[in-house]
Amino acid sequence: MTKKIFKSIVLVAGVVLLASIVIIMGVLYQYFGEVQENQMKDELSISSVAVEEDGVTYLSKLESNRYRITWIKADGTVIYDTKNGADTMENHADREEVREALSSGEGEGTRYSSTLLENTMYCAKRLSDGTVLRISMSRASAGALAFGMIQPILIVLIVALALSGILASQISKRIARPLNDLDLEHPLENNTYDEISPLLNRINFQHKEIKSQVKELQQKKDEFNQITSSMNEGLVLLDNNGTILSINPAAQNILETDEYCIGKDFLTIDRRHDMSIAIQNALNNGKSEIRSEINGREYQFDISRIQSANKTIGAVLLAFDITERELAEKTRREFTANVSHELKTPLQGIIGSAELIEGGMVKPEDMPRFVSHIKEEAKRLVVLIEDIIRLSELDEGSAMPQSEVDLLNIANEVKNNLDETAKAKNVSIQVSGKNVVIEGVKRLIYEIIFNLCDNAIKYNKDGGKVDISVSETESNSVIKVKDNGIGIAPEEQNHIFERFYRVDKSHSKASGGTGLGLSIVKHAVQYHNGTVTIDSQIGKGTEITIAIPKNK
Ligand code: ADP
Repeated sequence: MTKKIFKSIVLVAGVVLLASIVIIMGVLYQYFGEVQENQMKDELSISSVAVEEDGVTYLSKLESNRYRITWIKADGTVIYDTKNGADTMENHADREEVREALSSGEGEGTRYSSTLLENTMYCAKRLSDGTVLRISMSRASAGALAFGMIQPILIVLIVALALSGILASQISKRIARPLNDLDLEHPLENNTYDEISPLLNRINFQHKEIKSQVKELQQKKDEFNQITSSMNEGLVLLDNNGTILSINPAAQNILETDEYCIGKDFLTIDRRHDMSIAIQNALNNGKSEIRSEINGREYQFDISRIQSANKTIGAVLLAFDITERELAEKTRREFTANVSHELKTPLQGIIGSAELIEGGMVKPEDMPRFVSHIKEEAKRLVVLIEDIIRLSELDEGSAMPQSEVDLLNIANEVKNNLDETAKAKNVSIQVSGKNVVIEGVKRLIYEIIFNLCDNAIKYNKDGGKVDISVSETESNSVIKVKDNGIGIAPEEQNHIFERFYRVDKSHSKASGGTGLGLSIVKHAVQYHNGTVTIDSQIGKGTEITIAIPKNK
């Protein structure tokens, strides 16, 4: 700032100085020229009178260094010259002032001497005898004059420079101080010079604009954060260098990091090679997808490129937890394989027996045994198919008709229907408790109690007991089915609710089990938002408790 002002002032001062010097010198040169000329003319007229009277005598007495007087005949021959000998001088007839004086009585002329850097002014006058008296005087040229004044000009220039410097620093300080003191946070509250008012108004306007834009951006950011933080899917935004711009809480959980990873390279939170290849593929080709297991859960990562004006500006990474989906898919595959196997076994039995009969291989006395075997296998098939249908219904999760169900009544119904089976196994069934009414699906509640009771009879010992009790707590309706049968080993207890899982396959099959009973129990209880707990000891018996919440 100071430099600029200094330069401007020096420039202005220099120009003004030069112009002044040129003008003043011009005026002075002109003025003194005229004065000299008048003096010369006066001198000439005095001298001409004196020469007319005294001739060369007068001229020889003259002692002037400033003037030079030459007396010239009408033919141009020099009669006398105050500086040089007349005989050494050339003819002067051709001199401009001499010619003018001879013709009109008076003449003037100025000639420049490049050797002396001087002008010589001449004035000539014709005397009464026809001769011409000429006076001449040197006059310095403008250039020589200027050269002669170089010292004072330099002094003035230095003074002007010094003054310009001081002035520039003072002016710049005076200009800069109010600018430095400006409160740009509150532009309109400044009391400063009017010239910068438009600037302050503009700043004020821009402040408002920036504020509203920042507010808008903040709102959008908050909205974005609210949406992404409530998402179950993990969401990560990356720029085109792979730097994390945003990461929602779900993604932080999945990738075991925190929000402080924002601004860092994605590689710092996930070093897997396949992941960095997938990100690179998405940035190059638009989309990519990988599946990966993290901490025992299965995730799918969908990565998509983000573009703006045909330029890749980053990528968005979405992580889905597909553990359940994968598990369901696996269960479905296993179930299908198991169902096929379970259906095939009785069917093979039926076909085998039928073929033997057809081929006349069975003796008439063995015929009833074979027919009964076919019947038994066919019955097993029907039971199996019924169980599969029930499970499929429960898997579909479609709504079933609900009604008020008295648990004690159902328990008694089950007891009556299983009494025969129990007697055949020499097992007694007891029902105890009070009437507890729940809102539920009667058919499912019946199946829960029936399957539990059926198992309690099947996996019991001779003379064993089965107790069905119905009770309620403050929050739950409770059914307990207890037996003093063979019991279940602790390591088996987690598996018995799996489809087709049997602890002792031959025992289960021999007693008509399908391996689906407890799966149906589990799903039917889940349908009522209830829980199943098991308490069992090998050789002592099993107690299975079903708790159905009153407030669903
Ligand atoms: P199954 O048709 O074989 O009875 P379930 O799903 O009902 O199939 O039962 C699974 C397995 O759990 C049975 O095969 C049996 O080994 C075991 N189990 C179920 N209930 C009892 C019980 N009360 N006592 C002992 N073992 C049982």
